[in-house]
Amino acid sequence: MLPLLVLILASLTGAARAQAPLRIVGGPSTGGCIQGALHLPLEGEGFQTIHLDRSAFWGAPQTIARIELLGQRAHAAGLPDLLIEDISAARGGPLPGGHLSHQVGLDADVGLDMTPRPPLDATARDTIVLPSLVRPDARGIEPARWSPRVVTLLRLAAELPDVDRILVNPAIKQQLCREVTGDRSWLRLIRPWYGHAAHMHIRFRCPAGQGECAQMAPPPEGDGCDATLQWWFDQLDQPSRPSGPVKVPTPPAACRAILAGR
Ligand SMILES: [Zn+2]
Repeated sequence: MLPLLVLILASLTGAARAQAPLRIVGGPSTGGCIQGALHLPLEGEGFQTIHLDRSAFWGAPQTIARIELLGQRAHAAGLPDLLIEDISAARGGPLPGGHLSHQVGLDADVGLDMTPRPPLDATARDTIVLPSLVRPDARGIEPARWSPRVVTLLRLAAELPDVDRILVNPAIKQQLCREVTGDRSWLRLIRPWYGHAAHMHIRFRCPAGQGECAQMAPPPEGDGCDATLQWWFDQLDQPSRPSGPVKVPTPPAACRAILAGR
């Protein structure tokens, strides 16, 4: 009888401690929320979080594990510590700063500057301004900031499990198109987007079994080094340059309870 009682007590205690089951609702175009998010440690092998006063580091367990894996792989490749910015809020939903995405715990921003440097101290972690890797005229990369280490970082990120896509400035994508030889299949996941000159935005696919998670259509086949990339540079010659999307959508109704913490 006693062992049974111990077993029951143990299972009750375990249940009380257990993480809420993962539930992801919505996606980048609708807004969304997440239940059961985990917090990325503020630092770990090969990475540091930055802007702790204004960033949020909650994500789906898979997202957190993969960012930690990226740090380990970057460290093994001899790269400086990765600087991690926003992932998501504890229950997702809109983040300050007009982020359209980052609402469901599947997105992470990672600085691209791979200039060798010691780890940042506490003050520098809050005050650092990530440097742009793109020239002010937006037509090419900043040679002083560019190096094979940046290509290594982007490749390590693209080869993480379950990456949906990685957004970078068109000039960064263009440079990869020019430089990468051998296996170019990973370039497919590196997509040009507004901004993203100082950090990349890694988006992971909806985890299995998350039927309410809005999965984007996969990127088109091929390396993307084509007319769709040239389009971005053609826009630079237009009289009014595109400003990018600004409207942050309201999360779906199913998020009300999750965002309220019920
Ligand atoms: Zn982002």
